[in-house]
Amino acid sequence: MSGAKLRRPLGIIGLCALAAWPIVMSSPYDLRLFTLAGIFAILAIGYQFIFGYVGELSLSQGAFFGLSAYVTGILAAKAGFDFPATFAASIAVSVLLAALISLPVLRLASHYFALATLGIGQVLLLLAIDWQSLTGGAIGLSGVPLPRMFGFQIGRGWPLLLFVWSFVLLAALVAHQTKRGLYGLACHVVRQNAIAARSLAIDPDRIRFAMFLLSAAVAGVAGALHAHTIRIVSPEGLDFKVMISCLTMAVIGGRTHIWGAVAGALLVVHLPEWLRGLEQGYVIVTSGILIAILVLAPEGLAGLVDRLLPAAVGREAIPAAASAPASQVAGEGVLMPSETPILAIRGLTKTFGGVHALNDVTFSLMRGSITAVIGPNGSGKTTLVNCVTGIYRADGGEMVLGGNEISAMNSEDIAARGVGRTFQNLRLVDDMTVLDNVAVARFRTEQTSLGKAFLIGRRDARLERARSHAMHVLRRLGLETSAYLNCGSLAHGTKRLVEIARAICLDPVVLLLDEPAAGLNETEQADLARILEGLAARGLTLLIIEHNMEFLKSLATHMVCLDYGELIASGRPSAIYQDERVIEAYVGRRYGAEAMA
Ligand code: ADP
Ligand code: MG
Repeated sequence: MSGAKLRRPLGIIGLCALAAWPIVMSSPYDLRLFTLAGIFAILAIGYQFIFGYVGELSLSQGAFFGLSAYVTGILAAKAGFDFPATFAASIAVSVLLAALISLPVLRLASHYFALATLGIGQVLLLLAIDWQSLTGGAIGLSGVPLPRMFGFQIGRGWPLLLFVWSFVLLAALVAHQTKRGLYGLACHVVRQNAIAARSLAIDPDRIRFAMFLLSAAVAGVAGALHAHTIRIVSPEGLDFKVMISCLTMAVIGGRTHIWGAVAGALLVVHLPEWLRGLEQGYVIVTSGILIAILVLAPEGLAGLVDRLLPAAVGREAIPAAASAPASQVAGEGVLMPSETPILAIRGLTKTFGGVHALNDVTFSLMRGSITAVIGPNGSGKTTLVNCVTGIYRADGGEMVLGGNEISAMNSEDIAARGVGRTFQNLRLVDDMTVLDNVAVARFRTEQTSLGKAFLIGRRDARLERARSHAMHVLRRLGLETSAYLNCGSLAHGTKRLVEIARAICLDPVVLLLDEPAAGLNETEQADLARILEGLAARGLTLLIIEHNMEFLKSLATHMVCLDYGELIASGRPSAIYQDERVIEAYVGRRYGAEAMA
């Protein structure tokens, strides 16, 4: 039996074992431990949203947990509110805090994000200890009641256990919905390559923000349930140890698998209990076991299972009528090459320290034309593409796309307006299939959002449409046989084509290709040239950075040459090859003579 086929029976066995656990280990103490494991499973599932799905090291999950426990404690023990009110308030306060801190923090680079989120817990801890009248100070608040609602009280033991685990189920469901559709694919791209995401009109900041709030909301659920289970709230709940446990669960279980979070929580809660008999040695043995898991399975237990039993790729997910997507594929219009500039670049300037990477560069791309950008290494070609696509903010000049100024726009908004690109150093997501790498470019067109992801039914119609569109593009580029392979397993030449397919799937009006023929053999180069000609013939405007003059000779309709950031020539390729300055700077006299022969 193949690994993929074993996954389902193993999953069922795992669920049965989980259900049998509290039936077999049914002493009040065991039930309480299992209830606590459920609470930590919720915390870890919530943590996966930020730490797993978008890959940001947040260190505030413990703070949200402790804060919401205090909110529940204060409202239930001191003010006597029932569960529905305390529960809603706990989540709301947690989310509100996340929103407040994420505004300045989420745009920061990763390690600052970690540090900034670390600080929040410390501030709350000081507050909890010092604000005695509200929090009970170092001793905390006791007498938190069991959850009470609509006149019922959830009893301890089994009722509380089932109550808590029903929230584990709910959190798992929310996580599952977030992951499984087009929104989940976008999260994956944001985690692996945020710049690529931006080039596909996906706003990584917005997705990170949503995931951070969601992780705080779910931490709020865990904190509230913890207060009701432990019946006291104390500064211990805000201690950094909680955060460490949460991190351990997510790392041990696996960052992006829901069941990994549950397994991690069960293990981290129970391991010290199982090893209690070892007395002094138990810390060492516990740590040893956790380290062994990390060494043997760096991607966590879930990653280990993935390695041993690779999942089957969901071929059935593409509807049969994939060849006829509802909307047109880019470049399938009937626009003929014209003298209307689709993209006008005027006086573009960019400096890095003392280096003038671009100096007052002015030229236009005509609709349906193929413009080659040539120039020696370091002459500013990539910088030009990065400025046009908003990855770099130019220091001066303007860029007008189809009549709209785009100079001040974000990268993702420029992409949404129809500027597609590929990267000199490939930016594909290696552990995702070719099909999904390409399909994710439909994110903005499909108006994907987290709210809509929650409401996905049996299948995500958005993802299906996106995949079907992507399949259509892949067929046109002759890539359909690679559709279900992971990008990481592809040859270099195929990867270059997949990046082009991905950019085309965005339905761009202008496509910027940064050295698309680099590393391709002659056959591949000829195929690529044919594909690019086909795209231009259908009205797509192309800008191609390339060193290979043979490749460009028959392809380019226009050519510009950069040297030390200055545009030294622009015009028809035949004129450029003869231009004295171009020959001097780049082409070399020999090639110039050959080209003319
Ligand atoms: P090309 O693509 O033509 O080889 P680039 O646009 O990559 O050239 O680089 C142009 C110049 O700008 C080079 O001198 C390079 O070192 C500099 N440069 C490009 N990007 C950066 C950056 N992010 N930081 C500092 N210098 C840069
Ligand atoms: Mg370059």
